[in-house]
Amino acid sequence: MDRDRELAASRERMLSDDLVGRGIRDAAVLRAMREVPREKFLPPGMEQYAYEDSPLPIAEGQTISQPYIVAYMVEALELRGRERVLEIGTGSGYAAAVLSLCAAEVYTVERIPLLAETARERMKSLGFRNVTVHLGDGTMGWPDHAPYDAIVVTAGAPDVPVELTEQLAPGGRLVIPVGATPYLQELVRVRRPAEGELRRENLCAVRFVPLIGEQGW
Ligand code: SAM
Repeated sequence: MDRDRELAASRERMLSDDLVGRGIRDAAVLRAMREVPREKFLPPGMEQYAYEDSPLPIAEGQTISQPYIVAYMVEALELRGRERVLEIGTGSGYAAAVLSLCAAEVYTVERIPLLAETARERMKSLGFRNVTVHLGDGTMGWPDHAPYDAIVVTAGAPDVPVELTEQLAPGGRLVIPVGATPYLQELVRVRRPAEGELRRENLCAVRFVPLIGEQGW
């Protein structure tokens, strides 16, 4: 088997065992996870690990998230395809690419210049045209394009930043890891109903790198 066929086979194994096998059901999410080539978001020489269900190191001491968690978080946003989405923590750009196939527009914020620049070039070369990468402190959101139908944070916060809930459209969902220590969190979903108070629910335990910034660590 040549390399491309091997990667395609391990991508299919990931879909059936790690995603469908663990309860991911959203057809659009599964289609996106099948279409986005995770190997293209990894540092050189790591392609063979692309479809293992684990986070992997990228540059600057950061990580690309585990495929199951990416799929789980995107599914938890309940996207139907027409939404404007904000992601905090671009990292490699992999989750932004998955989001771009499930929503209309994706805005993604990264605080580390090298990662933001690499992700921006990657989006261009791989043809993910509805993704815009911004360098900045994502704990403050990105007010220029608010309100967002969905916001996802891919780093662990000490609490839910109020700036993010304020940038959520009525009916919008925010999915964010929240924890009392920087490396262990509970994944939380916050809904902004059309009227009334924010509604918050705990989804599952997760382990992310810390969200660093004014409203982070
Ligand atoms: N979504 C990424 C992917 O698909 O590769 C994985 C993200 S990695 C687990 C977390 C990222 O959040 C890191 O790249 C880190 O630099 C970034 N980050 C941490 N604090 C941030 C902040 N305040 N604003 C923007 N990005 C932040």
